[in-house]
Amino acid sequence: MDTTHPGHRRRVDGNAAGGLLLEYFGRDMTTARTRCAHCDRVAALADAVTEVDDAGVILLCRSCGHTLLTCLSTATSRTLALRGLAEIAWDQDPERPRTAS
Ligand SMILES: [Zn+2]
Repeated sequence: MDTTHPGHRRRVDGNAAGGLLLEYFGRDMTTARTRCAHCDRVAALADAVTEVDDAGVILLCRSCGHTLLTCLSTATSRTLALRGLAEIAWDQDPERPRTAS
């Protein structure tokens, strides 16, 4: 049975997008807080419904089902579309060196 036919998206936990988002943002984004531009729901990014296929990852709002963000990868480029997000916020890395004054 072939489960990898073209165009088929697998629905997975939002944490599954963590590795790919790490490549885009350079940090773990699964705990980042997102606000849906459609319904204003605030939740951790890892809480989003996630669909993956060979072309990339789509995160969907768990409340209203609208697309929050889309990551598309080809052999030559990367695209990150954030139209469905009103806001994305994350805490500063506590291990990051701070300048003493
Ligand atoms: Zn929503």
